[in-house]
Amino acid sequence: MDEKLPGYRGEALRILKEAYVEVGDLIRIEKAGVTYEGILMPRSELGDERHITIKIRSGYNIGVRITSDMRVEKKASIAKPSFIPPPPPKQKPGMPRVTIISTGGTIASRVDYRTGAVRPAISASDLYSIVPELSDIAAIDTEVLFSMFSEDLTPKHWSQIAMKVAEHIKRGAQGVVITHGTDTMGYTAAALSFAIQKLPVPVVLVGAQRSEDRPSSDAAENLIGAVLCAARAPFAEVVVAMHQTISDEAIAIHRGTKVRKLHTSRRDAFKSVNSSLLARVYNGEIIMLTDEYNGRRDDAEFILKPDFEEKVALIKFYPGMNPDIIDWHVQNGYKGIILEGTGLGHVGRRCFPSIRKAIESGVIVAMTSQCIWGRVNMNVYTNGRDLLSLGVIPLGDMLAETALVKLMWILGQTDDPEEARSLLMRNIAHEFSSRSVEPIEPPESIKA
Ligand code: GLU
Repeated sequence: MDEKLPGYRGEALRILKEAYVEVGDLIRIEKAGVTYEGILMPRSELGDERHITIKIRSGYNIGVRITSDMRVEKKASIAKPSFIPPPPPKQKPGMPRVTIISTGGTIASRVDYRTGAVRPAISASDLYSIVPELSDIAAIDTEVLFSMFSEDLTPKHWSQIAMKVAEHIKRGAQGVVITHGTDTMGYTAAALSFAIQKLPVPVVLVGAQRSEDRPSSDAAENLIGAVLCAARAPFAEVVVAMHQTISDEAIAIHRGTKVRKLHTSRRDAFKSVNSSLLARVYNGEIIMLTDEYNGRRDDAEFILKPDFEEKVALIKFYPGMNPDIIDWHVQNGYKGIILEGTGLGHVGRRCFPSIRKAIESGVIVAMTSQCIWGRVNMNVYTNGRDLLSLGVIPLGDMLAETALVKLMWILGQTDDPEEARSLLMRNIAHEFSSRSVEPIEPPESIKA
């Protein structure tokens, strides 16, 4: 790929090279008596060879089709933007020690004004420089682990995050903050909840729905809330800190195994499902919302089990689903299947023979509900009861993605099906709630 003309190939690349232009230049294109002017944009590697993309004055990108009479010329080179963070604030004495580990996502991104794209570009230490209020809360240590969008993370990355968190706690961190893309933050939060147990200090995942250089960004508020919890919260659990409402009022602190991104873009996208919030940060104070939590300790002891088995699948049942899908997983060596069934925990009877075969060949099969709120109860209807007698494990009110992560974690620890079964049903990190929580808060606040 040509570094100055990323994504351009063939004829398009030839024309642009001959005109001595590069991405980011202001160019003029003339063809068939029409003139187009704009900033030359990069193209996706998957794009065709027959178009040149420019950002026109209105801010829209247009593709200009290549023709033999086309003429391209440079009007001006635009200065390439660069981000120079201010120097980090001075550490104040006597503050609790908090580590911020950055992994990427919007919270660590800036808009590239040449392309309009959001890129994971800034590190934990840049964030610290941009949000100097953090120095009034803690003595901050920063480390860049990844610079990735969270949909590109895999269970191997969860293991690396867990080991990094462990390293910082061993070195004396009194709380750890992980900046993370919001898309899969719930999965990572669940993964860390299982991989690091009996934590002595809080581990707080935080993200942002809008990047830090946009006026509407939620990054700074979320980060301040997260660092405050890491530094001072009385609990020692894996949590997610994000806006509770669309205004900057309060930061909700969700348990890592009970939280889900339930809106694509709003600042209050994250909700605790089938569980109340653990705490809220309001006016610089941490308000605990339950007495049932694992408390902070002064030692640096914990249990680290960072391995995950990737041959586990999450299968959403839908009317007419072909049972071949289940067979395929068994034939391809999958060791566990989490079903996201309908209602109280059902799949069509047509899938039963495949489920029986899967279980007979040693695959762990467990049931969650695609309803999201409420809990699986497979004793009510015949189909549920029959699935139970086939050996399907009911997972109560556990979120389907938490169940997936938990089974990956379990099968990363043991090959023994009996042990796996019993671990799956044991409440390890508050993934099962003892009481049902009515879903009043989430739908209400999502309405606006
Ligand atoms: N899809 C990206 C991610 O999850 C950006 C979204 C975000 O950070 O909110 O990393």
